[in-house]
Amino acid sequence: MTVVNMQWKLIPDNIKQMILSNVWCSNCRDVVSVTDYQIETHDLGLIMSGKCSICGSDVARVVEKE
Ligand SMILES: [Zn+2]
Repeated sequence: MTVVNMQWKLIPDNIKQMILSNVWCSNCRDVVSVTDYQIETHDLGLIMSGKCSICGSDVARVVEKE
């Protein structure tokens, strides 16, 4: 398991769920949930990127460090 996934795993499930279901989709112009997501590192914390569950567009969200 990578360090990135370890960091993601440390986030409580209810917070992860909140993050995954509150992503802005610029195509839908609405808050959507994300599918097929992956986690990457970023200066600000972690970046969760994936696909909009409604239209399939690429979406991303920064998960800031505490
Ligand atoms: Zn969308």
